[in-house]
Amino acid sequence: MALMTANEYIESLRKLNTRVYMFGEKIDNWVDHPMIRPSINCVAMTYALAQDPQYAELMTVQSSLTGKTVNRFTHLHQSTEDLINKVKMQRLLGQKTASCFQRCVGMDAFNAVYSSTYEIDEKHGTHYHENFKKFLTFVQDNDLTVDGAMTDPKGDRSKAPSQQADPDMYVHVVERREDGIVVSGAKCHQTGSINSHWHIFMPTIAMGEADRDWALSFACPTDAEGMYMIYGRQSCDTRKLEENADIDVGNAKFGGQEALVVLDHVFIPNEYIFLNGEYEFAGMIVERFAGYHRQSYGGCKVGVGDVVIGAAALAAEYNGVEKASAVKDKLIEMTHLNETLYCCGIACSSQGFKTKAGNYQIDLLLANVCKQNVTRFPYEIVRLAEDIAGGLMVTMPSQKDFSSDTVVGRNGETIGEICSKFFAAREGVSTEDRQRIMRFLENMCLGAAAVGYRTESMHGAGSPQAQRIMIARQGNIQGKKQFAKDIAGIQ
Ligand code: SF4
Ligand code: FE
Repeated sequence: MALMTANEYIESLRKLNTRVYMFGEKIDNWVDHPMIRPSINCVAMTYALAQDPQYAELMTVQSSLTGKTVNRFTHLHQSTEDLINKVKMQRLLGQKTASCFQRCVGMDAFNAVYSSTYEIDEKHGTHYHENFKKFLTFVQDNDLTVDGAMTDPKGDRSKAPSQQADPDMYVHVVERREDGIVVSGAKCHQTGSINSHWHIFMPTIAMGEADRDWALSFACPTDAEGMYMIYGRQSCDTRKLEENADIDVGNAKFGGQEALVVLDHVFIPNEYIFLNGEYEFAGMIVERFAGYHRQSYGGCKVGVGDVVIGAAALAAEYNGVEKASAVKDKLIEMTHLNETLYCCGIACSSQGFKTKAGNYQIDLLLANVCKQNVTRFPYEIVRLAEDIAGGLMVTMPSQKDFSSDTVVGRNGETIGEICSKFFAAREGVSTEDRQRIMRFLENMCLGAAAVGYRTESMHGAGSPQAQRIMIARQGNIQGKKQFAKDIAGIQ
């Protein structure tokens, strides 16, 4: 099968029997649900851009497994150039959607599991790498979206998986059979889970011998028997349910999505297992996946940042203050911060290296520095955007008021006319355009899209402390002490 079009992707989701719950109820037609659809449109963009000749070179690539043309989101990186192109592709998608487009978690899982399974087999004589290659060939041939599922609920954080009062706090084996395993547990805040055709499950922490039954990686279809999702709600999400509220929504076309994914006695056939008890490799998968996803943020968040900066510049222009030196300086600062993140994404890619399995891994220290900066800079960019936009982005009356013909004025003016009069921007700019940019900024800074631009920048791909642990490990303080000793003449 060739690459899917955006529409074929959306239609392919309808064929799945994915079990989705929201507001305490099962949602049967989740593909057309107004709260879910923007996140589907967002993934669909990864298909649409691959069909666009303007972007085909960035979005598509020759498969290292089959030689066929595949979407880069299903590719195993073959060089540092591939790693750089991945970041560029993510920036492009961020610019086109101003949201989390979700498909990267699968791409990052492919590359982490591919290289790790090779090394597990090397030590244990297992055949996980072959299993994985077969699975990925199937994914590439069918141009599927796959969720990379890592974050377990974790229960009592001071305890290992095997020490938890409830064993389900980490995904684990409940039964070993001749033909496969039966697994239970859950993964929290799973980006793009509902929109994916398949899932790859991975461990979320390094494990010890007692955690054997929790040291697991496997693939399973999103509609597997026993699997279901409970949709995560976002700030201001029910605006999407209102009629004629596309302006108030801020970004009516695109959005991100997270869910609680539950596995209740799901059977996994042997051919889809990539780790099964080799506990000493759990940490390797976590570290590699996290490394790739920390690199990813040097692309996706930068693309979204580009749109935030553009929106702030438009807000200033509409208010007639774009020439003020203070405004110009704030836009320079936002650009400086955003491009610094991009520098980190490109740097950790350009310093990548070949793994034993043959695909390319990013520089771990630089990827962790990248993500650590992402936990800070978007917050400052948002602060400056709010500063430029002014308070109107959170105090403006609703879209319904602007279109209301209820009379309020002594000369028969309607609510809509009064709103349009007092919220008029500079000459030549419609009040509606001003409304649109203010609501867009509200959405990015503290509405539904802030999930993807702010809090996800903090906690997605690991919270700040996780990066600091990696920076401590990779920072080579001993070597640096030696530099100082050599020059200071200390024996
Ligand atoms: Fe991709 Fe960024 Fe979303 Fe992660 S947060 S899935 S890297 S868009
Ligand atoms: Fe993320």
